[in-house]
Amino acid sequence: MVNYKDLGLVNTREMFKRAIAGGYAIPAFNFNTMEQMQAIVMAAVETKSPVIMQVSKGARNYANGTILRNLAKGAVEYAKELGCEHPEIVLHLDHGDSFELCKECIDNGFSSVMIDGSSLPYEENIALAKKVVEYAHQFDVTVEAELGVLAGVEDEVSAAESHYTKPEEVIDFSTRTGCDSLAISIGTSHGAHKFTPEQCTLVNGVLVPPPLAFDILHEIEKKLPGFPIVLHGSSSVPMEEVNTINKYGGHLEAAIGIPEEQLREASKSAVCKINIDSDSRLAMTAAIRKHLAEHPGDFDPRQYLKPARENMKKMYIHKIVNVLGSDGKLAQC
Ligand SMILES: [Zn+2]
Repeated sequence: MVNYKDLGLVNTREMFKRAIAGGYAIPAFNFNTMEQMQAIVMAAVETKSPVIMQVSKGARNYANGTILRNLAKGAVEYAKELGCEHPEIVLHLDHGDSFELCKECIDNGFSSVMIDGSSLPYEENIALAKKVVEYAHQFDVTVEAELGVLAGVEDEVSAAESHYTKPEEVIDFSTRTGCDSLAISIGTSHGAHKFTPEQCTLVNGVLVPPPLAFDILHEIEKKLPGFPIVLHGSSSVPMEEVNTINKYGGHLEAAIGIPEEQLREASKSAVCKINIDSDSRLAMTAAIRKHLAEHPGDFDPRQYLKPARENMKKMYIHKIVNVLGSDGKLAQC
């Protein structure tokens, strides 16, 4: 048993409380590699932001859970080395799909887990989330649960169509499960292809996706005042990165994300955690493609991973400062 507190990690409870009161959101960046971890830590330290480093089931399959936990431990020590005496770093399981997986993560140094029973019938979703909460709270690990279904593909999570969260269910669900935060479905979507062009409107030559269902979000906020709400699938899929990828030999068609303006708006509400994964993948791939196209003789991974890391760091800082507003929000620097 490895307790996250011994690794210098924190759970989400205090940071969410402050984020809701302060009208901003905490970034939740997925990571699979050392370079992503370094870029996240550099960005968080430079902006003095709390940060959630999250690991999906796919990331565990790719990189191994023990290695990822040690990267998170390394992240805390690295942040201190970079001059941040009191970093607030959460190691979070993204889309845990069983009690066993959540337990394994809790027993191995995670400070927060998500149990995603959103595809189950309502009562089964409640029973599963409650079981995870009861186990997690013994170790002061926080739990995110989900109500409503997001469309799109994210590692091993996929759904053909979305079902908005029903505001009338949220009080019952959060009370009976005892979860610490709730992921809702209001029109965000997983992956880099969140919408088809047919679902969008053409404004000044740019495809604009349908707006998020702010009416549902506000109704949920009214039912659960001050309760932490989470948005998944919130990459913006910047055209600049997509264009770079396509310019240097890639082939990404109709990649469309959530406009940052809408995420900025959501951050001011009870939305206190915003998940961003695809944008990091795009930033990394764009930089690697560009570097290799311009330096065809390079074969040392450090030569192209360094600009990739720089590009991800730039993207993370942009999100923290210009979209989520979590810069300068550490309890202690
Ligand atoms: Zn998700």
